[in-house]
Amino acid sequence: MKDHPRELVYLDYPATTPCDSRVFEKMSPYFCTFFGNPHSKNHAHGWIADEAVDDAFASIAECLRVEPREITFTSGASESNILAIRGVMMRYKNSGKNHLITTQTEHKSVLSCCRQLEEEGYSLTYLSVNDQGIIDLNELLDKITDKTLLISIAVVNNETGVIQPMNEIGNICKNKGIYFHTDATQALGKMAIDIKLWNVALASFSSHKVYGPKGIGALYLRKDPAVKIKSFLVGGGQQGGIRGGTIPVPLCVGFGEACKIINENNGAEVEQITRLSGKLVQGILENVPLSKMNGNVENKVPHIVNIIFPFVEGESIAMGLEDICVATGSACSSSQLEPSHVLKAMGVDNVVIQSSIRFGIGRFTTETEIDYTIKKVTDTVQRLRDISPLWDMYNKGVNMEKIKWT
Ligand code: PMP
Repeated sequence: MKDHPRELVYLDYPATTPCDSRVFEKMSPYFCTFFGNPHSKNHAHGWIADEAVDDAFASIAECLRVEPREITFTSGASESNILAIRGVMMRYKNSGKNHLITTQTEHKSVLSCCRQLEEEGYSLTYLSVNDQGIIDLNELLDKITDKTLLISIAVVNNETGVIQPMNEIGNICKNKGIYFHTDATQALGKMAIDIKLWNVALASFSSHKVYGPKGIGALYLRKDPAVKIKSFLVGGGQQGGIRGGTIPVPLCVGFGEACKIINENNGAEVEQITRLSGKLVQGILENVPLSKMNGNVENKVPHIVNIIFPFVEGESIAMGLEDICVATGSACSSSQLEPSHVLKAMGVDNVVIQSSIRFGIGRFTTETEIDYTIKKVTDTVQRLRDISPLWDMYNKGVNMEKIKWT
C-alpha cells in the first residue's frame, strides 16, 4: 500500500461510502459460519442462507416501498442499468418498437450501453439539459414517436446532484404507454423515492453508495403491470431466471441491513447532511472569489455539491487538498482527464469545466471536517491563483471572454 496521510477527510461519498460497521457485523457470520447456498433446498445450511436472503429482500423492498418479488440482485448499479435497458430493448425487439430516449447527462454505464445499442441498429435520442442540468419536458414530448419503447432518465445526477422532474416524466410515460427506467443510485437514502407515483417500471440501485458492501446492487422490475426483460446470465435459473448464478448471501445481508438503517433513521441523517453541505457551500462561496455552484441549487440532493473555481484546474485543487478526498468529475471518468460530459451538456465553458470539484457529504462527515475543508479550499485556491497567469491577467482587467483559446 502507498503511503497516505494518516487522517483523511473523506468527501467523496457519491463515489462510494464506507461500509457501516453495523452492516459489516451483520454480514460477518454469513462468510464462515452460515456459508450455505441459498439455492440448496435439502438441508439446514441452505435454509438458513435462504432465510437471510429473504430478510434482505424484505428490507430492500420496504425501503423502496415495493414487493420483495420485484427485486433482482445484481452486481451493482452498472449491471442493473445495462440489464434494464438492454433487457427491455432486446425483449421487445419484435414488437416493432426500437426507439430509446435518454439524456446527455446519464451515468457512463447508461450512455455506453446506449451507444452499443445504437451500433446494433436501435434508434437513440439523447435529450439535452438546460444550464441547471434539467431536461425540457417539451423536448421529451417532441422526441417521442410511435416506435419509442423505453425512456431511461436518472432521478439524481451523480456529478451535480440535480433531480429530474420524475412525476412529469412518469406521467408522460404512462399516457404514452412507454416503459420508464430510472437510475436511482444517487437518490436512495437521500430523498423520498416513490416508484409508484413516478410510474417507474424499472429502477437501478447500488449497495456501496448507501454504506453497504461493494459488489451488489438491485434492479426493480415492476410486476403489475409486468415488465419483462431478456436475461443474459441465464445460469441455473436462479432469481426467476432473470439473473442466474448463486446469490452472494453475505453481500445481500449487507445490502439488506444498509436499507434497514435507511428505513430506521433516515430523516435525521438527511437533515444533518443538508446542514453540513449548506455550511460547506456558504463557507466556500463567501471565501473564494468567483466560485460558483454548478446545477440547480434548489432541486437537488444535499450530499452532492459541485463548485467551479475559475482560473485554477480542478486537478490541481484536488492535489493541493492533499488529505481531503474530493472528485473532479465523476469517479468513473475522472481518470480520463476529459471535460465532464455532464457539465458540457449544461453548457459550462470547456475551460471552466476543468475547474470544477465535486464534494460529497455523508453519514460520517463532521462539522470539524467541514470547517477544515472550507479553510483548506480557500487557501489552496488562493495559493494556486497566486501563481496563475490567467488570474493575473484577470486582475489586470484583461477581458477574458475576448481571448481566443487554441
Ligand atoms: N449510476 C450512478 C448515478 C452512479 O453514481 C454510479 C456510481 N458511480 C453507478 C450508476 C454505478 O454504480 P456501481 O458502482 O454500483 O456499478
